[in-house]
Amino acid sequence: MSDFCALTISEAKEKLENKEFTSIELTNAYLNRIKKHDKDINAFISVTEELALQMAKSADEKIQKGEKGDLLGIPLAIKDLINVKGIPSTCASKILTNFVSPFDATVTKKVKDSGAVILGKLNMDEFAMGSSNETSYYGNVKNPWDKERVPGGSSGGAAAALPAQFAAGTLGSDTGGSIRQPAALCGCVGLKPTYGRVSRFGMIAFASSLDQIGPFAKDVKDAALLLQVISGKDSFDATSADIPVDNYYDSLEQDIKGMKIGVPKEYFIDGLDPEVEKSIHNAIDVYKSLGAEIIDISLPNTKYAVPTYYVIAPSEASSNLARFDGVRYGYRSENSHDLHEMYFNTKSEGFGAEVKRRIMIGTFCLSSGYYDAYYLKAQKVRTLIKKDFDDAFQQCDVIATPTSPTTAFKFGEKMSDPMSMYLSDIFTISANLTGIPGMSIPCGFSGNNLPIGLQLLGKSFDELTLLRAAHQFQINTGFHKQFPSL
Ligand code: GLN
Repeated sequence: MSDFCALTISEAKEKLENKEFTSIELTNAYLNRIKKHDKDINAFISVTEELALQMAKSADEKIQKGEKGDLLGIPLAIKDLINVKGIPSTCASKILTNFVSPFDATVTKKVKDSGAVILGKLNMDEFAMGSSNETSYYGNVKNPWDKERVPGGSSGGAAAALPAQFAAGTLGSDTGGSIRQPAALCGCVGLKPTYGRVSRFGMIAFASSLDQIGPFAKDVKDAALLLQVISGKDSFDATSADIPVDNYYDSLEQDIKGMKIGVPKEYFIDGLDPEVEKSIHNAIDVYKSLGAEIIDISLPNTKYAVPTYYVIAPSEASSNLARFDGVRYGYRSENSHDLHEMYFNTKSEGFGAEVKRRIMIGTFCLSSGYYDAYYLKAQKVRTLIKKDFDDAFQQCDVIATPTSPTTAFKFGEKMSDPMSMYLSDIFTISANLTGIPGMSIPCGFSGNNLPIGLQLLGKSFDELTLLRAAHQFQINTGFHKQFPSL
C-alpha cells in the first residue's frame, strides 16, 4: 500500500480510473504514512482525516458512476495560509491558533470541484516569512533527505510532503521564493505562476503585490495539471487576470528544438556553491543536447533585488498584518486594562520574532519622512528590475538559473544572521518583483546526497513554455524519480 504514495497524480488517476484501487485505499495509504512518519518530519499542522475520508468516499462513488474530474480521488495537502472551510488556518502563528476558516479559498474550491481529497494543512514559516521553516510556532519542518537540515521556506511543509510521500501534490505560496526555494531544497517541482494567474482570494496575505499561490508536485506533468485546475480569473480577486488559461497538460510533449534559453551572468556569483553551479551547467548542457539555443544575457540590476524586496515586502506586510489585533481573529491577550494595552499585549505575545522584525521595518519604511526614501525608491528600482527582464525576454524564451545558491543548510546555521537568511532568496525574488512565472525542478544531487534545483523563468502568462522546457528536461533525465528513505 505504501507504494501508492510514490505515484504521481497522473499515474494514480489512471489506476483509480482502471479500478486498480479506490480513493479510500489511496487516501488511507497516505494517512497511514503521515501517522507513521510525520512525527519526524512535522510537515502537517493539521491532518483532516475525517474530511479526507468523506471526500474519498464521494470521489469513489463518482468514479463508480464513470464521472470524470481532473483530480478525482487524488489526495492533496494545502499550506496553512490557504483557507479550507471548517478547518483551522493558523499561518503557523500563535496569533491564529484558534482561527477556523468560515469559507474556502478560491483555489480550495477549485481543487474540491475537480474531485481532490484534502489530507490536511501544511506547516510553514510564520506568516510565510522565512526561508527555512524555522519561524513556525508549530516547530521546524525537517528535510526528508537529511533530518538535520531545513526544508527551505516558507512553504517547508508543502515541499517536504512530496519527497516524504505524504500527498500526491500540494499547494503553497510564493512571495519571494517560498515555492521555488523549498522545492529546490527538497527535490521536487515547484511552480510560482505569473502574478494574476491564480486567485489569492482566501489566502492570508503577506505582501499583496508579490504573493502568488502555486503547486508543488512530484513531476512537471502533475504541476501542469494542478496549475490548470487552480488558474483563471476570479471575481473575488481584483488582481486575478482575465487572460485565457493555456492547455498546459496537453501541450507538454512538444519538443524544444530552437527554444532560446538565456543564462544571466549575474546569477553565477561568489557564494554560489560549486556543486550547485556544476549541476546547473550540466542542466544547460542537457538543453543544448535537446536542440535549445543557449544565449548569454545580462540582468544588471539583480544586485538590488534583495534590498528592494526587503523594503516592499515588509511595508506591505506591516499593513496586511494590522488586522491581527485581538479583536476579530484568533488569539487575544488576557489581563489588559484598556484597548491600547490589549492591542499591545496581543501582538507582543501573538507574533514571533521574525514577524515583529518585518512589521517594524515595514512601519518604518512607510512612515512620513521615510516613505519617499525607502518605499517609493524601492518601487522605482522595482521598475528597473522589470525592465531588465523585458529586455532579456527580447532575446530569449526562458531564463535558466540556480534556484538557491546552496543546498539545504543545517538548522540554526542562519537564524542568528537575518542577512544571510535573506540572501538565500537572491535568485528567486526578482520573479516576484516583476510578476513573471518561475519554477524549480530537480537537476542533480550534491556529494552528500542533497537535491539541487534548476530555476526556469518565463514571460508573463507564458507558463506553457516553462512547463514544456521543464518537462523535456525531466523526460531526458531522472532526478525527479528519486526518493529518500525516511
Ligand atoms: N524567504 C522570503 C521571505 O522571508 C520569501 C518568503 C515567501 O516567499 N513567502 O520573505
